[in-house]
Amino acid sequence: MYITTPIYYVTDAPHIGHAYTTVIGDALARFYRLAGQETWYLTGTDEHGLKVARAAAEAGLSPQELVDDISQRYVRVWESLRISNDDFIRTTEERHRIGAKAFLQALYDNGDVYLAPYEGLYCVSCEDYYKEEDLLEGGLCPIHHRPVEHFSEDNYFFRLSKYSERLLAHIEANPEFVYPSTRRNEVIGFINQGLDDLSISRAQLEWGIPIPWDESQVTYVWVEALMNYATAVGYGYDQAQFDRRWPPTHLVGKDILRFHAVIWPAMLMAAGLELPRRVAAHGWLLVGGEKMSKTSLNQIAPDDLLGTFGVDGLRYHLLRDLSFASDGSFSWEGMVERYNADLANDFGNLVNRILNMVEQYRDGTVPARTGAEPVDVGLKNAAGEAVEALAGFADLGFNDALLGVWRLFGAANAYVEETAPWKIAKDPEQGQRLDEVLNGLLEALRVGAILISPVMPEAAAKLWDQLALPGAPDEPPYTETAVFGTFPELTVNRGAPLFPRIEAE
Ligand SMILES: [Zn+2]
Repeated sequence: MYITTPIYYVTDAPHIGHAYTTVIGDALARFYRLAGQETWYLTGTDEHGLKVARAAAEAGLSPQELVDDISQRYVRVWESLRISNDDFIRTTEERHRIGAKAFLQALYDNGDVYLAPYEGLYCVSCEDYYKEEDLLEGGLCPIHHRPVEHFSEDNYFFRLSKYSERLLAHIEANPEFVYPSTRRNEVIGFINQGLDDLSISRAQLEWGIPIPWDESQVTYVWVEALMNYATAVGYGYDQAQFDRRWPPTHLVGKDILRFHAVIWPAMLMAAGLELPRRVAAHGWLLVGGEKMSKTSLNQIAPDDLLGTFGVDGLRYHLLRDLSFASDGSFSWEGMVERYNADLANDFGNLVNRILNMVEQYRDGTVPARTGAEPVDVGLKNAAGEAVEALAGFADLGFNDALLGVWRLFGAANAYVEETAPWKIAKDPEQGQRLDEVLNGLLEALRVGAILISPVMPEAAAKLWDQLALPGAPDEPPYTETAVFGTFPELTVNRGAPLFPRIEAE
């Protein structure tokens, strides 16, 4: 599984919207690794283009200085969010330059590139042309509400129009290619309106990758950025690696779906490459009802949330409270509520309670169960259902899958209430039953630690330590390790609570 996020444009500092896509990709990558599949997870930064050149000039820096600084901010924020990317591509790297030139040459050699005059209205913030009728009143960009600029020059064009039929046929034959289906219909509608050929170069710009056969032009930043998915895994310089990783699964926000589900696949067809397995477009993370953007000043930096919710609290919220396909609202109150209900109460409290009882009644050590079945088969069944629920990650159904995993904690909480170990502990004749009840509960925690590991890697590892288990919760394949059996005879240690309650104030 080769999973990608978009590469983030370095004129924007990392915010929670970037974190959303990247956490989704990370949970997916960790899930596939946990399932035992070879997985490669890529993210990175998009560092060329007019907007970068201008931002650098405004800041009194060279473009390279600006991109070095901001790309490092992304590297650091992904580290702080425990993102397990295998690679981080920067489009100013030599490997990308080599690969992108090879890709352009392939398009050219295939006869799909021609030179023609171009005149149009350009939004520098979008790095994109607009038609007059798409602009807001007063000639403003519909996204940025800023004036567009009139550009007129000779550009190289890619024969996008030539690929309409083949794109439609591919989308028709591969219902999973564009996800979710509402977005798929949107893409089909867009192609059916007719595709124009695409300008892929700029004449009046230096900060970019030169067109290999005409160095007076540089590659249009969007087209060049798309190529990162191929150049990062060896296209143009390491064919063996490329063959091993390709094709990718792309995760994107719905606003950049057309680039990924129309332009990019057409480019791949022209270059003779296999199309992505899937282009999955998630909804927007809204703050106060609006998409986060630099211009609307509603950005939230991940660091602002980590102090209160921790890495796992933030990751859990993004995956549990938002549905992949739809827009979701971010609110502090909602986040506190979710944290307290699911993490502090249902899960953290359960862990604390069980470990506390094991220490109190058995000095931390419960013998392994001797019978073939646990005293309550219900707990075993709940664990089996939780394991099945986790498979929903493959279909990007994170919220439902987590709901399914949490049913195991619900079942364990109910089991504690039903069996009331504090009562059994008073009866010396029920010693074996107490052992069996506690063993079942410890086993439920062991299975739980494995199942939460793609979303909450820190809590999973801490719980694993508290249970004194050897190895790690994320050792594959979970379909074998997370089978409910008997908990081994180990001396557990309670440790600090995993998720201390957050006061709403
Ligand atoms: Zn714009």
